[in-house]
Amino acid sequence: MAFAVLLLVLIAATVVLIPWQHPPTPPRSAQLAALGELPASVVAKGKEFAAAMRPGGYLAMAVGLIAALVLGLTPFGSKIVAACGRPFGGHRLAEAVLGGLAVLLLAQLVTLPFAAWRHTILVRYGLSTQNWGGWAVDVAKSYAVTAVLGAVALAAFYGLTRLAPRLWWIFAATGAALLVVLMSLIYPVLIEPVFNKFEPMADGPLRTELLALAERDGVPVGDVLVADASRRTRAVNAYVSGIGPTRRIVVYDTLLDEAPDDEVAMVVAHELGHAKDGDVLIGTVLGALGAAVTVCGIAVLGGWTGLLRRAGAGSITSPRAIALLLAIVAVVGLVSTPLQNLVSRRAESRADEHAITLTGDPGTFASMQQRLATANMSDVDPPWLLFWLFSSHPSTVQRIAAARVHADGG
Ligand SMILES: [Zn+2]
Repeated sequence: MAFAVLLLVLIAATVVLIPWQHPPTPPRSAQLAALGELPASVVAKGKEFAAAMRPGGYLAMAVGLIAALVLGLTPFGSKIVAACGRPFGGHRLAEAVLGGLAVLLLAQLVTLPFAAWRHTILVRYGLSTQNWGGWAVDVAKSYAVTAVLGAVALAAFYGLTRLAPRLWWIFAATGAALLVVLMSLIYPVLIEPVFNKFEPMADGPLRTELLALAERDGVPVGDVLVADASRRTRAVNAYVSGIGPTRRIVVYDTLLDEAPDDEVAMVVAHELGHAKDGDVLIGTVLGALGAAVTVCGIAVLGGWTGLLRRAGAGSITSPRAIALLLAIVAVVGLVSTPLQNLVSRRAESRADEHAITLTGDPGTFASMQQRLATANMSDVDPPWLLFWLFSSHPSTVQRIAAARVHADGG
């Protein structure tokens, strides 16, 4: 019942909070016109690079899912959990934290060869500036972050299910939702610095221009931060992260090297759109609801004894069922990815529209998109099914076409 109600709230929130109607996706004819204007070499390079990267990506996804299902739907996962608890006399907390982390690590390790494969392609195409040492340090850091966050979540969850054996799901759903909000809040100040250094943009005409742009837009921005992205990539990008007091706009140092000031300002104008419309907050609210729905769904599935027997667990609240929980989360994640991307693309289109309106310069918007596609070797017009499933942003031809339609007063 709670599951159904929460699911309806999630659907209602998605319908209300996301700009489904405006701006409209430009017609295919306008997209093809934009495609025709792009240099053929840029289009070809993007297709070639995407074709090289995709197999590793899809195989990683498939192998990761298969591993999660094998661990969760056979007694294999529960045996690992039991083995991890054995040196501690089968203590519940040892099984929960050590067993949980072991299962998590195993599910991640099986996809590592594919990540390494993709790294070799990034290096071959000159997009990555990292050697194997730097790459390995990044992998180790991300595993360490997962281990710390995972240990806290596992200890909290299995502490809860012990304290409230019947009503655990109410507390766990609330806790999962609060955890999503907390992560959004602390991510920019605790997690991002693990991987990059952030410095306020150096004083100068560009910084003055960007702060004036934010002021004109009515978006309070304390500072624009520059990330040392060049330590790992030649790709150019910018983003907004954090909510409330931790909200910040970040631009890659590679973007400052690669793009003229008016295009950097255009990228920042897009990010201001995200900030002004509260896109990170909206994403956080939807994520929190999604987490609560998932917990309630897990509680519902917990009544399915056949499933528990398959997983070799006596109860859904037993640490022996950890692998089953991870399998459920993996499936939910896979199924919800296209929906998350659909929501994301709408928010991105609105931020594009915001940038063009704020600057009144669709021409620079189009040249900025071309520069981004060139530097990042983007597939400017990906196959529609792959686009629908995996793209978090509108395609380059859609974004340029939208600017052209806007310039024509459409
Ligand atoms: Zn964006």
